[in-house]
Amino acid sequence: MEKTKKIIIVGGGIGGAATALALNRAGFDVSVYERAQELREVGAGIALWANATHVLNELGLLEDAVRNGCLTTNYQFLTENGKELVNVSVDKFELPVVGIHRADLHKILCSQVTSKFTLGQTFERLEQYGSKIRVYMKSGLYDEGDALIGADGLRSQVRAALFGESPPIYRNFTTWRGLTNYIPNQYRPGYIHEFLGRGKGFGFMMLGNNKMYWYAAAKTKQGQKHDLEVMFQDWFSAIPELIAATDKATNIIQTDLYDRVPSRPWGKENITLLGDAAHPMLPTLGQGACMALEDALVVTKCLQELDDVSKAFEQYELQRFSRVKSIVEQSLRSGRMGELENSIAVKLRLQFIKLMGSTIADSFTSFHSFRA
Ligand SMILES: Cc1cc2nc3c(=O)[nH]c(=O)nc-3n(C[C@H](O)[C@H](O)[C@H](O)COP(=O)(O)OP(=O)(O)OC[C@H]3O[C@@H](n4cnc5c(N)ncnc54)[C@H](O)[C@@H]3O)c2cc1C
Repeated sequence: MEKTKKIIIVGGGIGGAATALALNRAGFDVSVYERAQELREVGAGIALWANATHVLNELGLLEDAVRNGCLTTNYQFLTENGKELVNVSVDKFELPVVGIHRADLHKILCSQVTSKFTLGQTFERLEQYGSKIRVYMKSGLYDEGDALIGADGLRSQVRAALFGESPPIYRNFTTWRGLTNYIPNQYRPGYIHEFLGRGKGFGFMMLGNNKMYWYAAAKTKQGQKHDLEVMFQDWFSAIPELIAATDKATNIIQTDLYDRVPSRPWGKENITLLGDAAHPMLPTLGQGACMALEDALVVTKCLQELDDVSKAFEQYELQRFSRVKSIVEQSLRSGRMGELENSIAVKLRLQFIKLMGSTIADSFTSFHSFRA
């Protein structure tokens, strides 16, 4: 009888945990190595679009996600003063769109993983020999398997071990993500409200347990300091209210935004990459984690269908590349639209968005109707 294949995953974030779970369900022997000392995701929200809730449905986790999240029905774009530009219904799919706290999603995924999840271990280097792969941690610990999946995020060390160090590209934006119990009067249940201004943007949506999640983005040079309260003081009143109601020390996270130009290959023989390690993108379409979930399902199906790991990883990359390339590129295009600061250009952009209502709705449908 054929011996069960052992797959090593480096990185236990949303992508790594989902992959471990999908591989467990398919009967593979899986070991996950995660740098963090404890399993915890940052305190921010995430939108899971229908293409991602499909993956959760396949993994039998959708009910849990819906129970812990909030159903999203509309994506509304507005001017900074709150004038509606476009209102897209996102509840027309056979699957729901869910706003959920990242920690809740991560907990749901991890609670079902049956493989060995080793925390506090940072991947350092690898050796490929014959059909085996040996993975070394900084601590001196090592492990051996039939395949390695690098799910270690934006600054993936598995990627660096394969292709050399290459820093991701800073895309001239910084973001803030906040979480509060405060619900503005103007919030419409089920809505993502997104406000567009000059080189700045702000959005808010509900997560599970009546938590309000908001995000802000601003065009900026790396390292430049900003005062959020001042930046948005004249915007639609719910926005300064949300900022003021959020504990700055514990509930606001600032992150600079990077991506990479999509390129192949993602791996070599029995090693591949997944999620942000393979294809980091700007969060303008809210698709990064959704793509990692899609990857998890596809890589598992390929490993089930093809006995040869190298061929399975080749097939996985082939099936995923054009899909993620188009999402990475569209995310960057949306980011560039947001860079406009000149008042005429901003007016034209708002006019354009208003006129493009049905095109925006169509492109939403095309992203979200994909089923991995
Ligand atoms: C502001 C913002 C908003 C976003 N909003 C959304 C959204 O609404 N919807 C959406 O789908 N996506 C969103 N994203 C994108 C999403 O957060 C990422 O795409 C997603 O987290 C990628 O998951 P991952 O598992 O590939 O990587 P990560 O989440 O980065 O996980 C990588 C894991 O690997 C571990 N690790 C790193 N290096 C090592 C090492 N050397 N050894 C061992 N472990 C290691 C890390 O500790 C981490 O746990 C957003 C991103 C940002 C910045």
